[in-house]
Amino acid sequence: MADFDYDLFVIGGGSGGVRAARTAAATGARVALAEESRMGGTCVIRGCVPKKLMVFASDYADLAEDAKAYGWDAEIGTFDWPRFRGKLHAELDRLEKVYRSMLEKSDVEVFDSRARLADAHSVELADGVRKTAKHILIATGGHPFRPDMPCADLGLVSNDLFLMEELPKNVLIIGGGYIACEFACILNGLGVDVTLYHRGGQILRGFDEEARGLVAEMIADSGVSIHTGTNIVEMKLADEVDVETGTISNSDAALGAPAKNDSTSLGENPKSETRQKAGKRIWVKSTTGREGTFDHVIFATGRRPSTADMGLEDVGVELGRSGEIVVDEYSQSTVPSIYAIGDVTSRLELTPVAIREGMAFVETVFKGNRTPVDHELVPSAVFTRPELGTIGLTEEEASERGEIEVYCTSFRPMRQAFIDKPARTLLKLIVDRETRVILGCHIVADEAGEMIQLVGIAVKAGMTKEQFDRTCAVHPTISEEIVTMREPVRAG
Ligand code: NDP
Repeated sequence: MADFDYDLFVIGGGSGGVRAARTAAATGARVALAEESRMGGTCVIRGCVPKKLMVFASDYADLAEDAKAYGWDAEIGTFDWPRFRGKLHAELDRLEKVYRSMLEKSDVEVFDSRARLADAHSVELADGVRKTAKHILIATGGHPFRPDMPCADLGLVSNDLFLMEELPKNVLIIGGGYIACEFACILNGLGVDVTLYHRGGQILRGFDEEARGLVAEMIADSGVSIHTGTNIVEMKLADEVDVETGTISNSDAALGAPAKNDSTSLGENPKSETRQKAGKRIWVKSTTGREGTFDHVIFATGRRPSTADMGLEDVGVELGRSGEIVVDEYSQSTVPSIYAIGDVTSRLELTPVAIREGMAFVETVFKGNRTPVDHELVPSAVFTRPELGTIGLTEEEASERGEIEVYCTSFRPMRQAFIDKPARTLLKLIVDRETRVILGCHIVADEAGEMIQLVGIAVKAGMTKEQFDRTCAVHPTISEEIVTMREPVRAG
């Protein structure tokens, strides 16, 4: 057997990579990990964690209004973004240290460096040093991308939103997925005037129709201006648009060479930064002919796997159409010594899934217990206001597969009804008519993320509608309706 420097070399220090490195090291394996940016990856540094803290921050203005309606003498004042941002980054620094110290305590050797493949068993660090390993695990995640259009690099992507110096007065968000909808609600809650252009007929494609319909309605009711069937066709620096003549000068010349539309995983966008520092706004034209000027245009148009310039193809690792690493159910790539987990494989782009993929990889490779990753019935939540929690099939998917019953209720929650607030909530179960098994559950409510985590256990366990019904309600709660819906609203 060849004498390798390590048993495992992990490239990428995000949630999946760190977990895999630690659990592999716990088996006695010699493990190294390289990370070019900050330890913690997308989830901790520029995704789930800072996003959720912003969700919390964005709630308070509304809560203060509710408090007043409940009889409190409450005035909230204005939101101090720099103060919050300072606290936010201090927290991210703390978490990064926690990740680093977990690796140190696990005896994982850390390289703060970019790493690329040199051959099937070697990686090359940025300084040219090569390290060999019996197994290499790619966990480099993904990064936001901008559509291919002139001046797209004037806009921001999600990575940039945590770094803004000032809170904008108004923004245009492009996209209708998770990130677009979550940030529309966050920024709106913080007092920013938000417009959202989505090219499709309804936001949140892929989610249950009724559930996404209610979320869209509630987001619009909260003050976000949603334009469906609308996309951006043109954008320029606002002061280059001569409104009288319609003449547009060249913004690339004004701000230097264009940056790549495919943003790096670090979210660096020097051109956008220069623009912000110069206080320049952006003029935009839509496919529907609508013109507008915004402090920021935010592209929430999806994410791509971070596989560029990694030497993957050179060593024979097959990539899919979007650049994702093609892997089998054990996360093994087309090169037997090279595995990949997390967003870089474009399977299910969720942190807990990446962590599970990392642990299954360690079971398979270091514990001799071949463990495929289970991607079925994974609960998830969109942290909009209200939240959308979901697991399993949508009504549309389920009805195409067989005969179903749909149990659904929508009502005004007690908390908001009391103060006459036009909030609504929705709980929905999709049931297999023959086996009675719950195929899907969709919840639109405050804290739906918390609810779907718990209901998810029962759905994943394959419970039937009748088993749900045998559980007594907890009264008065929103979620009690999940066990009190007696009659189907329809069958399909
Ligand atoms: P999504 O794939 O969810 O959404 C991308 C959106 O951009 C879609 O509405 C899509 O439209 C639109 N779009 C794509 N290309 C263009 C284009 N050229 N012009 C205009 N619109 C375009 O990506 P996100 O970046 O929001 O999120 C990526 C993934 O990250 C999610 O799928 C999810 O797995 C994960 N995530 C999870 C979160 C959570 O668990 N709460 C939070 C954030 C992200 P269309 O629908 O028509 O394709």
